[in-house]
Amino acid sequence: MSILHLRDVSKHFGGLQALSHFDLSVPQGAIFGLIGPNGSGKTTLFNVITGFMRPSAGQIHFNEAPIHTQPAWRIAQLGLVRTFQKTSVFADLSALENIRVGCFARTRGTPLQSILRLPGERRERRAADDKARRILALLGMAAAESIQARNLPYGHQRHLEIAIALAAEPRLLLLDEPAAGLNAEETSVLMQTVQRIRDQGITVLVVEHDMKLVMGICERIAVINYGQKIAEGPPEEVSRNPDVINVYLGEDLEL
Ligand code: ADP
Ligand code: MG
Repeated sequence: MSILHLRDVSKHFGGLQALSHFDLSVPQGAIFGLIGPNGSGKTTLFNVITGFMRPSAGQIHFNEAPIHTQPAWRIAQLGLVRTFQKTSVFADLSALENIRVGCFARTRGTPLQSILRLPGERRERRAADDKARRILALLGMAAAESIQARNLPYGHQRHLEIAIALAAEPRLLLLDEPAAGLNAEETSVLMQTVQRIRDQGITVLVVEHDMKLVMGICERIAVINYGQKIAEGPPEEVSRNPDVINVYLGEDLEL
């Protein structure tokens, strides 16, 4: 069964066709990769999936329900959560506090309870901290709990963004170039992290410019160029596709 389904999705900015008749089916439980050169439409695709932008045409279904008419907050509430291409952690907050921010999306305390700090609110705060610690442990960052985000190594800062997204309890997690700016070792840690997240039952759709990361962890890959899907299939097959090789000309595609 597919958790996310796009049919004939297009998005234009004035005369620029950023996405053109895009079809996509992401199987439940997969790590699915979307690759393409800079400017090919990857972030735009995330923006229309998550409701940050309306598609100009086409339909998007999440767990069989149409979401292309829903607002971004509602889509997130349904369990479709993204990270951003640019680092977006709160530099002055500790790792734990950063994740607590993400937990707000899921706590039910009313504003009045927060002001009066009723027992219900304290309980929820404790539950949020427990959840944040479990997420940090899952990402191998338990020791970073009280460290200010600005003082974390860059690889951990990028992991923290994923942690914040996990706090919203996604069923489908969208990662926008999570390896951007990471060195080879940090990238390999990230690849293991993404696999561990999937092992928790969370489907992952990862956008990358770096073909090697995607080749290493994805069961299935789609390739986008100038807003159009030019190939899709298992990594070995996609890496042999002449159209893909042409787009990535000059880059080493050896697996
Ligand atoms: P990628 O993430 O693959 O690098 P983007 O989706 O960011 O590509 O961009 C695809 C194309 O759409 C680019 O030509 C970009 O300049 C254009 N684009 C993206 N967002 C906007 C916007 N908000 N307004 C106008 N053009 C945009
Ligand atoms: Mg992008």
